[in-house]
Amino acid sequence: PPRPIGMLGTGVDISSFIYSVYNDPDSLGTFCLFNSFHEIMLVGDSYLSFSKVRITDRFGKAGKMIIDVANELENMETKTFAHAGVLYAVSYSSQLNWYLLGNTPIGFYTLFRPAIFVVFVLVQLLIVFVIVVFNVFINRARSKLEEQNHELVVLNKKAQTATRAKSDFLARMSHEIRTPMNAIIGMSELAQREYGKAKTLEYIAGIKNAGVALLAIINDILDFSRIESGHLNLNLAAYETNQMFSDALSVISVRLSEKPIELITEIDPTLPTVLTGDVIRVRQILLNMLSNAVKYTHKGFIRFSVSWQEISGDIALLIIVVADSGIGIHAEELGRLFDDFVRIEEKRNQNIEGTGLGLPITRSLCNAMGGEITAQSEYGSGSVFTATLLQNITDRKPMGTLKHEAEVLVNTWRPPFTAPETNILLVDDLPSNLLVAEGLLSPYQTRIFTCQSGSEAVNLVIAHSFDLIFMDHMMPGMDGIETTAVIRGLEEHNAMPIIALTANAVSGMKEMFLQNGFNDFLSKPIEVPKLMKIMEQWIPADQRGPAPEYPVSSADTVKINFPEIEGVDTAVGLTRAGEDHKRYLNLLEMLCRDARARLPLLEKKPVLTDEKENKVFVTQVHTLKSALATIGAADLSTDAARLESAGCSGDTAVIEELLDSFRAALSALLERIEAALTQTQTPPVESGDKQRENELLGQLKDALEQADLDALDTSLEALKSLPLSPDTRGALPAISDGILSGEFKKTIDKIEILLKVEA
Ligand code: ADP
Repeated sequence: PPRPIGMLGTGVDISSFIYSVYNDPDSLGTFCLFNSFHEIMLVGDSYLSFSKVRITDRFGKAGKMIIDVANELENMETKTFAHAGVLYAVSYSSQLNWYLLGNTPIGFYTLFRPAIFVVFVLVQLLIVFVIVVFNVFINRARSKLEEQNHELVVLNKKAQTATRAKSDFLARMSHEIRTPMNAIIGMSELAQREYGKAKTLEYIAGIKNAGVALLAIINDILDFSRIESGHLNLNLAAYETNQMFSDALSVISVRLSEKPIELITEIDPTLPTVLTGDVIRVRQILLNMLSNAVKYTHKGFIRFSVSWQEISGDIALLIIVVADSGIGIHAEELGRLFDDFVRIEEKRNQNIEGTGLGLPITRSLCNAMGGEITAQSEYGSGSVFTATLLQNITDRKPMGTLKHEAEVLVNTWRPPFTAPETNILLVDDLPSNLLVAEGLLSPYQTRIFTCQSGSEAVNLVIAHSFDLIFMDHMMPGMDGIETTAVIRGLEEHNAMPIIALTANAVSGMKEMFLQNGFNDFLSKPIEVPKLMKIMEQWIPADQRGPAPEYPVSSADTVKINFPEIEGVDTAVGLTRAGEDHKRYLNLLEMLCRDARARLPLLEKKPVLTDEKENKVFVTQVHTLKSALATIGAADLSTDAARLESAGCSGDTAVIEELLDSFRAALSALLERIEAALTQTQTPPVESGDKQRENELLGQLKDALEQADLDALDTSLEALKSLPLSPDTRGALPAISDGILSGEFKKTIDKIEILLKVEA
């Protein structure tokens, strides 16, 4: 728009004036001229003057202020002021003696420019703030979402692991159940076929064992589902503390007897004599902890400690700690240990039976009894499980030391002392018994003399001075009792301790021996803890040296891969031979020689009324009974025992029924042992056989890969009939097991390893 530069006829330059009046150059205000009487002469751009309109009339209150300002103006001077939202500018021209007045409402913009700026900045800030807040909010929401997402992933993973554990469990269970089931069905079949023959008993024993194993698994599953569905009820009753711990320990000791593990028990004798609780469940907790320790420990020790605290008047907190020197558990696995179905390190433990339910059940039981179970472990060095549980105190008398501790078969291979200066005489007509006793005593490092008859013993006693004599009871010629009587009759040997060795461990025996001049008695087959007790009692303190280096077990003796001998539990036999494989081989050989010599004597049924014939018969079967038990042929040993007692009681019917089958079974057993012995002695398989072995292994592998069941059977059978290399022979049971349980992949891996080794 055009800009006014002056006012015509007045000579007043209004450009500066206008700028002071119009802050918004685009919107012109109004202006006028007035004279020194303050009368308006000219308004706006009209050249008309109005009649005497006064400034004060037109502008009211502001008019007065205009006049005040005008009065002070010099020529060409301009002054401004604001009033009531209007800006006024007054200028004076002395030439005209007129005043120029401009006015304009003060623009919103002008008035609020700083404010607008501030508002603008504030708005900007607000927007920034809102954006920031919004961002923060979004970020929060996002991380929350991410968190939830992560949780979901973890949950999902957990769910997957749980399902996997569950299906692994089912697979394992079907394997675990199938194995004893097969045994039960197979043996029942055999028992049916061979009904009435001596073997039947053996098969039935097998069926029983398998049944027991199956029952244990089923019980675990039942317990577990009971717990899972919340149906675990405790049946409270008073029980004897001492008895409960003894029972648990004796169960465990039997399982320990085949491993070089020392069982250390530390049971607080101040435990109350009688507690009230669910004794079956408490025992289950103990057995579970202990049997895990046995399962997952190969050598060293298991320490079983029980202590207690009085919580309130009637309530005792039992603290059970089972520590072992076993394989241990990785730190990161410890947390999963108590999860359902979980077995740690399946691969490493695949030969160890288990359901993975033991610990979850134990934990639930502990929880139900107001306690807890925790685990600590160091991988490779061992584990410690600690369980707590509450029981009611019924009789707070201290229970004392464990009643049955001495009877518990503790398999420790470290005697508490050695006695290198001690002279011991072993008397037994059966060389294998001498060998066993010698072996079991060897950790004591005593000097050992042996002889096979009473009269020899008497001569030796006269010639030497012995610190301890172990004397067999039943011997041909002078028996143990007669020999002891003779020795006691020798003036200077009155005090020599004589321990009776007997395979007749019936009650009242001890008294009989004590009355007949013996100092103590030890039953055969000899059990290590009992032997230890005897040594503890009869070796004087001044003859004792420090305990031998641990372990004394025959770690450095030759390990021989025993073939399975039907009717012989070689593991038991090995234990009896002090885990000395060589010695066990000797024992088997001796048994064969000895029993072969006795077989003809069993041809004819003895006339039991003939005292002499009776005695000969009883001595024969008695000796066989103990020799068979020693090598681990428990069943035949039981038959021999039945024959012996039939002989003693004159029961012809039993002899009539049993003698022939016994002789046949014995002769068959001897054949099997002899076959096994030749097998163990065969030098490593010749290369021709090895080739054949590899060929068959290859066929087996192919059959597995193609899941060709017929080919599987044939190649497996062919392999079994071959004299195999030790590696393959060792792996064969696992291979057949794998095939049986359908674990083809694993089995193929095994075979591949064998083939590699062979190559
Ligand atoms: P299982 O029937 O497999 O023994 P558990 O629930 O009793 O089941 O034990 C779960 C797993 O914990 C076992 O598979 C084993 O790997 C580990 N475990 C338990 N006790 C021990 C132990 N004393 N030493 C080492 N590992 C153990």
